[in-house]
Amino acid sequence: MKQTVALGLFSGGLDSILACRVIADQGLKVVALKFVTPFFDYDLLEKKEVYAAEVERKYGITVELVDLSEGYLDLLRNPLHGFGKNFNPCIDCKILMLTRAKELMAQYSASFLVTGEVMGQRPMSQRKDTLRLIERDAGCTGLLLRPLSAKLLAPTMAEQEGRVDREQLFAFSGRGRKPQMALAKALGIKDYPNAAGGCILTDCNLGGRIGKYYSGAYTPDSKDISVDDVNLLLVGRQFLLFDKYWLVVGRDEKENNRVASSWRPGDWLFEMTTHPGPTALLRFGDAQVEEQHKEEALNAGAGIAVAYSKKVNGKARPVEVTVTTGKGCFSQVYKPIAESVFQLWRIE
Ligand code: SF4
Repeated sequence: MKQTVALGLFSGGLDSILACRVIADQGLKVVALKFVTPFFDYDLLEKKEVYAAEVERKYGITVELVDLSEGYLDLLRNPLHGFGKNFNPCIDCKILMLTRAKELMAQYSASFLVTGEVMGQRPMSQRKDTLRLIERDAGCTGLLLRPLSAKLLAPTMAEQEGRVDREQLFAFSGRGRKPQMALAKALGIKDYPNAAGGCILTDCNLGGRIGKYYSGAYTPDSKDISVDDVNLLLVGRQFLLFDKYWLVVGRDEKENNRVASSWRPGDWLFEMTTHPGPTALLRFGDAQVEEQHKEEALNAGAGIAVAYSKKVNGKARPVEVTVTTGKGCFSQVYKPIAESVFQLWRIE
């Protein structure tokens, strides 16, 4: 008989590890889908094989990464079920992941879906009525099995069809972690994270920045936000020059490299030619800055970068900056701008 396949939603946290293992240990094949966006675990895309090998070795689970960025960036514009405490649209996020997982079922010949959700564990997205709403809006009613709380929920198709033995599932609920830890021990799972990888959208500072971007605080036209824009939003000091030009200034070498690697035609990149100092980037410079304001915007962008450059006798001095635009690059000496002036342009 052909082995039943289930697709698991895998955050990497203990609950999702257990949910996938509990089903796999009933003799089913589980493919764990790890969704990534620029807001969570995006760096894993650079080390797919290493990550998959590590999950297989530690937990005996086959994992595949799925980039959810495209739909996710749109979702943040106006999530139907609103935001949590910060800029985290948890209910719509789960609906989107399940919708995508359901679309992938045919590709994997999967019969049902699995998540590690535990009833009552999170106030917003794991109440019983919300669990039902999520599966309904994702078109997964009856298809989605939550092994850790299954005995508190109506039997799903996988249980009714006898693919999964409901008796071997669980009735966990609430915020306590003890039952999960005991189950991990019973399954021989030792090295697991205390929580799933951090979601930037729940961070009040960075999530707040992203929220501001969507509300137009960085650029009047936030319609076309890209992964690249998000990466730029998550680094450095952020400024809005003259109420409309978005400038990012790196705070250390790592951020300077990230700022520099974010440059794309149309942006203006400011780099200290020889003097130690930050790298700064003015997004959409060529397209956004009106001709009559170019000089002013160049002086401001370079001047802020110079103000953060290495001080000489306690003072920032004029230094040479190399400016790269979409039309080429040039070097020029720029004066630092007074902090009392440019701090008014800071977005935080
Ligand atoms: S915390 Fe982030 S990843 Fe998790 S459900 Fe909420 S928005 Fe999605």
